[in-house]
Amino acid sequence: MTDNRVILEAGGVCRTADLIASGVTKQTIRRALDANLLVRVRQGIYCSDASHLAATAAQHGGTMACVSALRAHGVWVHDESSTLHVGISPRARNHWHEGCACVVHRSAFTAGLGITSVAIALVQVARCMGEEVFFAALESALNKRLLSSDERAWIRSNVTRRFAELVDFARSDAESGLESLVRLRLSRLGVSTRTQVRIEGVGRVDLVIGNLIVELDGRENHDGPSQRHKDLMRDANAAKAGWRVLRFDYAMVIYDWPLVRDTILAML
Ligand SMILES: [Zn+2]
Ligand SMILES: [Zn+2]
Repeated sequence: MTDNRVILEAGGVCRTADLIASGVTKQTIRRALDANLLVRVRQGIYCSDASHLAATAAQHGGTMACVSALRAHGVWVHDESSTLHVGISPRARNHWHEGCACVVHRSAFTAGLGITSVAIALVQVARCMGEEVFFAALESALNKRLLSSDERAWIRSNVTRRFAELVDFARSDAESGLESLVRLRLSRLGVSTRTQVRIEGVGRVDLVIGNLIVELDGRENHDGPSQRHKDLMRDANAAKAGWRVLRFDYAMVIYDWPLVRDTILAML
């Protein structure tokens, strides 16, 4: 179907009226349905791929929202569950579907189908998930330049004071969710860190506290022998220049924070 683009731009789902408005004829819709290029989600609602999460949200009569929307936008989300979060407007009827385990948000900002915007999804996260999930997602969105300064201010004015403080604390230079989490957790212990510091002979490091370098190895980019060699070279060069270096991986930060925390505090 040549007008699949119309559906993709709507986040994978749209209504008959949207297709007609963009010039698709009823006959084309019928042919696309016959050829399985289009799937009917509900009466008058179509999607390009039935496995699409936005299609499940559309079955509810709403949008992918909260952490699900952020993931779809490419934002790092510190939540390993695959539960779909759906946003529907306050007065809309919520349609259930077979096997539903979705988290449904009643949100005044929700309208139509598809994927909720990054700014609205972050406000939903502030009401649904904890502070750490919100903060790491916010810094990831800022780093990927998915938020304007107006949107950042809008988020700040639509969350409680504790979350507003996190908006003020957030930076756009955090290159991984791990870095966001560690910086936030250390600040709550009264330990302030410098981020993305460039060190002569070493390169840019994740966090610096006094003369201690803390390197955080994300899941994606620290595998394989060549990366291990690079990491060892960096650590050797840093030590030669008088720095102390601690290196933690994803599993340590996420599943064994007390060890990471106590190790850093012992070095200070
Ligand atoms: Zn949620
Ligand atoms: Zn559901």
